[in-house]
Amino acid sequence: MSLFEDLKSKLTYLEEPQIAQIYKAYAFASEAHEGQKRDSGEPYLIHPLAVAIILADMHLDQDSIIAAFLHDVVEDTSIGKEKIISAFGTPVAELVDGVTKLSQMEFLSRAEVQSESFRKMVLAMSRDIRVIIIKLADRLHNMRTMGSLAPDRKRRIASETLDIYAPIASRLGMHEICVELEELSFAARYPHRCKILQEAVAKMRLERQQIVDEIEKNIFTALTAHSLQKFTILPREKHLYSIYRRMQRYHFSFKEATNNYSFRILVPENDICYLVLGIVHSLYKPILGKFEDYIAIPKFNGYQSLHTSLFGQEGMPIELQIRTYAMDSMANHGIVTHWFSVNNKDKDEDIGDPQLRAQRWITNLLEMQQSTAGSLEFIDNVKTDLFPDEIYVFTPRGNIVELPKGATVVDFAYTVHIDVGNTCVAAKIDQQFIPLSTVLKSGQTVSIITTPEAKPNPAWLNFVVSGRARSSIHNFLKTQKHSDAVELGKELLEKSLADLGSSLSAISVNTLKSILTEWHMQKIEDLYGDIGLGNRIPIFVAHHLISDGSPSLEDKTKLTQVESVKPLIIKGADGMAVSFAHCCYPIPGDQIVGYLQAGHGLVIHKKDCTTLEKLNCKSEMYLPVLWADDVKGEFISAINVEIANQRGALAALAHAVSAAEANICDVRVQERSSGYSLVVLLVQVKSLSHLERILRHISNIPTVIGVTRAKG
Ligand code: MN
Repeated sequence: MSLFEDLKSKLTYLEEPQIAQIYKAYAFASEAHEGQKRDSGEPYLIHPLAVAIILADMHLDQDSIIAAFLHDVVEDTSIGKEKIISAFGTPVAELVDGVTKLSQMEFLSRAEVQSESFRKMVLAMSRDIRVIIIKLADRLHNMRTMGSLAPDRKRRIASETLDIYAPIASRLGMHEICVELEELSFAARYPHRCKILQEAVAKMRLERQQIVDEIEKNIFTALTAHSLQKFTILPREKHLYSIYRRMQRYHFSFKEATNNYSFRILVPENDICYLVLGIVHSLYKPILGKFEDYIAIPKFNGYQSLHTSLFGQEGMPIELQIRTYAMDSMANHGIVTHWFSVNNKDKDEDIGDPQLRAQRWITNLLEMQQSTAGSLEFIDNVKTDLFPDEIYVFTPRGNIVELPKGATVVDFAYTVHIDVGNTCVAAKIDQQFIPLSTVLKSGQTVSIITTPEAKPNPAWLNFVVSGRARSSIHNFLKTQKHSDAVELGKELLEKSLADLGSSLSAISVNTLKSILTEWHMQKIEDLYGDIGLGNRIPIFVAHHLISDGSPSLEDKTKLTQVESVKPLIIKGADGMAVSFAHCCYPIPGDQIVGYLQAGHGLVIHKKDCTTLEKLNCKSEMYLPVLWADDVKGEFISAINVEIANQRGALAALAHAVSAAEANICDVRVQERSSGYSLVVLLVQVKSLSHLERILRHISNIPTVIGVTRAKG
C-alpha cells in the first residue's frame, strides 16, 4: 500500500472514483508482474508505478495513468488484451496496445525497418497522442534507471532516444522531458565527454558567479524602478548536451559554445513582456539582428517568447528570454499543458493551441504518407520535419507561411496549395522577379505566378526541401508517366486498327465492353495504358476488337503480313512512355525501330542495333517508327575515343566537346597497356550532323588516335 501512497498524493486533481479505478490498475499490475524483477533487482512493479507518477505530475487523465500501470503487462505476462478490456474498458486497452506496439519496434536496425516504425508510430499518435506521451514517460524512467545495463545496450538505447524520442518530445513542445532525455542519453552514449563537460561547466560557474549576480541585480533594479512588482529573473545554464551539440555543429571550442550569460524573465502578462524588453534595451545596448518575436509568430510546436541579446560586461553577450508564466509552462510541458491538464480546462488563455499544432503536424505526416510510395522516401520526409529549423514568409495577402530552413520558392508554392506548386512558372520576392530555386528568408513576401498549362519540372527535386513539395512532385511525375502511356497506347491502337481497315470509332460499345470485362479492366484508358507500357501488343488487341473477341486462324496468319503498317512518328525526347535504348543510343538521323518492352513502353533502338538482334525478340513487339521532320530535344550518344595518356588529355577532350556546343553526361576511362586509354563519352546531341561536328572537333586534338561513335 505504501508504494501507492506516493502516487496518490499527486492525484489531487482527480475524483475519488477515478482514484479507485487507478488503485485497481495498481493491484492488477502488481499481481501480473508478481515475482518479476527489473535488471537492477528491484520488483518490476516499481517501473509502471514510476511511469504513472511521471504522468500524474503532468496531470494526465485517469485512462493514461491506468494504461501506464498496464503498459508492460501484455508484453511481459500472459495477460491478453481481452482481459484488459473486461477489467478497464476498450479505451484503456487501446492505449496499452499502442504503447506495446511502439515498444516492440526495433528502431535503428535498418533504415527500412526504421521508417516502417515511424509510420506505425505516427499512426498510433494520430489515433491517440496519449500513446506517445505514455511512451515518453516510459522511456524517461528507463533512462533514469539504466545504470545496471550492459554498456553496449546502454549506448543503443541512448542513441535511439537521441534520434527518435527526444526530437518527438521537442516537437510536441515538451521541453523539460526533451532536455532530461537528452542529458541522460548524452551521459550514457558519451560518458567520457559528458564528464569533461560537466567539470568545465562547474569551473565556469564559479568564475562567473559574481558577474551573473551583478547582471541579475541590475535587471532587478531597473524593473523595480519602472514599478514592476510581479516578475521572476532566472539565471540559466545551458545543459550539457546543448553545449556539446553547439561544439559539434559549429566546431566551437567550449569557450565559444558557452560565450554568453543567459537569463529568463517571467512576467504575468503579454504586454509586460514588451515593456520589459524596452527596459532591458535601455539598460544594456541590444545586439543588432538578434531580436526574435516568437510571441507574435510562435514556433511550430507552439513555443512563445521574446529573445534578445545585449552587449554585456567585457563584450560577453547577455541572452534574454522574456515570456509570461503561462508561456513558460507551455514551453516546458508543451502539448500536455492545455490538452490534458484537468485543472486548466476552464482557463482560456490565448497562447496558441498546442493541440491544433500537434494535430496539424500529424496531419501533414499522414498526407505525405498517403502520396508517397516507398518507406525510405517516407523516412526522408519525416526526418526533415522532425528536426525543424523554421522560417516564416508572407503571402501577398499577409498570411504567414511556416517553412523549413532552406525552403525555396517551390516549397512555398506547394505549401500554399498543391495546385499552385504544380502550375508555378515564376515568382516575385518583394516585387522583384527571382528564380524558382531561390532560397527564402524570414520576413519576405512571396508571390507566385502560375499558368494553367504549366507542369512540375523533375529538376525541382534537386532543390526542394519540404517533404510535401517532394512527394507532390514525385506523385505528379508518376501520374504524368501514366497519362503519357495512355496517350501512346491509344495512338498505337488506332494505327493497328487503321492497318486492318478499321478504326476505334467503328468498334461497337458492346464489343469494347465485353473485351474490357474479359480482361478485368474498368475503362478504356486502362487498356490504352497497358498497350502504351508495352504489356499488350496493339495489333493483337486490334484483331481482338475486330473479330469480336474470337481470333480466327485467318487472323493469325494476317498478323505476319502487317509489315505495311504506317510508322509512328517520334517527335522528341520528352514523352515519358517513349524512351531511347542505352545499348545503341539512337539519335535523329539514324534508321530506327521501336520495340514494345513490357513495363517500359516503347523503346527506340537503331535498326542495326546488335544488342536487339541478340535478344531474339518477338516480331510482333516491333513497331515501325520514324523521326519527325522537326524532331526536338537533346539525345544521348556514345563516343569512343582512343587517346594518349598525357597530362591534360581529358581537359582537351572536354574543351572540344563544349566547343561543338554539346554537353558531356558521363565519362568512362579504360586504361590500355601501351600508354593509351579508351575513353567512352556520353554526350547530349541534337542530331546526326551535330554528332559528326563533335567527332570532327575531337579528331582535331593532337593526342587523339581515333574517334568513333560507339556501336550498340
Ligand atoms: Mn516500460
